[in-house]
Amino acid sequence: MKQEEVAGCGGGHDSPGLALDEARARILEAVAPLAETERLPLPEALHRVLAEPVTAGVDVPAHTNSAMDGYALRAADIPDKGTKLRLIGDSFAGHPFDGRVDVGQCVRIMTGAVLPAGADAVVMQERTEADGETVVFHDAPKPGSNVREAGEDLARGDTVLSPGHWLRPADLGVLASVGTAEVAVHRRPRVAFFSTGDELQPVGTALDAGEIHDSNRYTIRAMLEELGVTLVDLGIVRDTTEALEAAFDAAAGCDAIISSGGVSVGAADYVLEVLRQRGDVGFWQVNIKPGRPLAFGRVGDAHFFGLPGNPVSVMVTFLQMVRPALVKLSGGRPAPPLRVRLPLAGPIRKKPGRAEFQRARLVDGGTAVEPLGHQGSGVLRSMSAADCFVFLEADTGDVAAGEEVPVEPFAQPVWNG
Ligand code: AMP
Ligand code: MG
Repeated sequence: MKQEEVAGCGGGHDSPGLALDEARARILEAVAPLAETERLPLPEALHRVLAEPVTAGVDVPAHTNSAMDGYALRAADIPDKGTKLRLIGDSFAGHPFDGRVDVGQCVRIMTGAVLPAGADAVVMQERTEADGETVVFHDAPKPGSNVREAGEDLARGDTVLSPGHWLRPADLGVLASVGTAEVAVHRRPRVAFFSTGDELQPVGTALDAGEIHDSNRYTIRAMLEELGVTLVDLGIVRDTTEALEAAFDAAAGCDAIISSGGVSVGAADYVLEVLRQRGDVGFWQVNIKPGRPLAFGRVGDAHFFGLPGNPVSVMVTFLQMVRPALVKLSGGRPAPPLRVRLPLAGPIRKKPGRAEFQRARLVDGGTAVEPLGHQGSGVLRSMSAADCFVFLEADTGDVAAGEEVPVEPFAQPVWNG
C-alpha cells in the first residue's frame, strides 16, 4: 500500500532509492538561500552568514611600520657589520617620531610603530648595542628588512569577505581591522522538528510496557543548535494522520520541517501519506545504510525532511542531507564532504548494494581508522563512541584490515565550501 502512495517519487518497496550524491544534489537544487537580511553589530555576527560583500575602509596595516623592536634607519648607511649610527629619537606604537632619519642617524622603534620618514629598514634590538647616543649594528640590513608596508595585507577598497561567508572568529578580527562596525547577514532559518511514534515518551517520564524515551528530538535539536538556526520544537506526535496534519499546521511559517520516524513501510507509518496530501513529495528513499527511508519534499513554503526513526539513521541522514540544505538555506556555501583515505585497523564486513556509513574511531594519532563493533541503526551509542564515519560505496564488499577506506571525520568544516 505504501509503495503505491509514493509511486513515481523515487522509491518503492523494491527500489534501492536514490544514490546519495543524487539525493543531495536534488535537495540542494530545491533549496534557495533566505533572501531576508539583517544588520548586526560585529560582536553579534559570529557564525552568521554574510549577505553583502565587505570592502576595506582603510589600509591594513594602516601605516608602514616595524615588525620588530629595534632601530629604524637607512639600509644604505650600514654597508658592513659593526657600523655605528647616531640615535636621534623614539617611535612607539601610537606615538610616531615626527622628524626625519637622515644619513648616519637611527631612531629607536617598537613593534607596530610608524616607520619614520627617511628610514627604509629596521634592525632588531638583539643585533645591536646601544651606548648613550651611539648604536652599533651587528646586522647589515637590506631595504625593507623588518618593515611592514601600509596596505600589504589589505588595501583600502579591497574586497575583504564575500557574500555566503560563514563568519568565524578570525573573520570578525579581520572585519574589525578594516573598521567594519556592522555587517549585513542572512536571517536565521526557522526550523520546526518533531518525533513521531506511539511508543515515545519524553525524558522525565516513567516508561510503561513497550514505551521508549524519545532520543531523536534531542540529537536533532543539538545538531540544529550547532547550525545556529531558530528552533521550533513541536514535541512528540502520535501515529495518526490527524496528529501529523496538526503538526504540519503548527509548523506554518517555518522555513524547514524535520520529522523522525513513521516514514518507512510499516502499518503505523503515515508521514508519506500526509506529506502527499498536505504538500509535495520530492523523493523517498536513499540508497544508504543506515538511513534508507528518507523523504524529502515541501509543505507550503517549508522544505520537509522526513527522517527515519532509528536513532543512528536520524544522525546519518541529518549530517549527510539536512545539514547541507540548512547551510544553503542560511545563505552559506555547503562544503562537500571531507573524505580522507586511511588504512583500516580491522576488517569490515559489507554486502555490495547500499552505500554504508560505518561508525568508527580514528586511532594511532589519526593515521588509521578502527570500525566500532555494533553497527545496528538502532545502536545510538555507536555514534556517541565514534569520531568519524567510514564511507563505503554501494558496490564495495568486505574490506580487509590494512586496506585504505574513505573516512569522514565528524569535526569537518561544513561551511565555506
Ligand atoms: P519507525 O520508522 O517509526 O518504525 O521507527 C523505527 C525505529 O526507531 C523503532 O524502533 C522506533 O521505536 C525507533 N524510534 C522512532 N522514533 C524514535 C525516537 N524519537 N527516539 C528513539 N527511537 C525512535
Ligand atoms: Mg514509528
